[in-house]
Amino acid sequence: MKCKYKRVLLKISGGALSDGVDSIAPSMVEHVVNQLVEIHNSGIEVAVVVGGGNFWRGRDGKAMDRTTADHMGMLATVMNALALQDAIEKKGVQTRVMTALSMPAVAEPFILRRALTHFEKKRMVIFACGTGNPYFTTDSGAALRAAEIKADVLLMAKNIDALYCSDPRKNPNAKKIEKATYLEVIKNNLNLMDLTSVTMCMENNIPIISFGLKEKGALVRAARGEKVGTIIT
Ligand code: UDP
Repeated sequence: MKCKYKRVLLKISGGALSDGVDSIAPSMVEHVVNQLVEIHNSGIEVAVVVGGGNFWRGRDGKAMDRTTADHMGMLATVMNALALQDAIEKKGVQTRVMTALSMPAVAEPFILRRALTHFEKKRMVIFACGTGNPYFTTDSGAALRAAEIKADVLLMAKNIDALYCSDPRKNPNAKKIEKATYLEVIKNNLNLMDLTSVTMCMENNIPIISFGLKEKGALVRAARGEKVGTIIT
């Protein structure tokens, strides 16, 4: 099948791997991984940036030094990355975790040329530790890596099926948005990602698709360039 995108980068929050009881729930991991493997098997190169919010976010450490709290958050992303790697490799797809903070006993450091070689060798790549810097988020990490690897699209997995003009949980008349510009997202404060990340995508012309991860097959459809969620260009 001819696909619109050759290389996609998926950003999933750590929360997407949790069922509310277990921080990493096998059923949730399976839901994501099955779709990632299907995308990979259809010939699309897949990179993943995973968050760490199911364990820890820097802002949780209110009384702590912010840099320390953010380092803890970045370490949390590594646990999620390893869980995803394990589940993907069990399905027969070679996968490499690359970390922005060096921990060579656990995973490879992020080196762009190496990441590109992994794609050539038909491996999936999971980027952990976001940007490697405190005061950022894994959304920024996703925008940064998407620019570096020249991803054709950034797929933002959310717990809601698309962007809305206001919060549909509070306003039943909230209208679903099919298409938006980066500036509209920023100006109307649409709940997509932090401003640093949207700006980075805008400056590097990376289209973003915001879609609901819970919807069956939505991730696969988004990666194949089918109409799903909201596209931001
Ligand atoms: N973090 C950071 N720099 C980065 C990426 C992440 O300091 O480049 C820290 C930050 O504390 C953040 C935590 O790691 O709260 C987990 O990432 P995030 O909140 O983006 O995870 P998600 O909400 O997507 O699960």
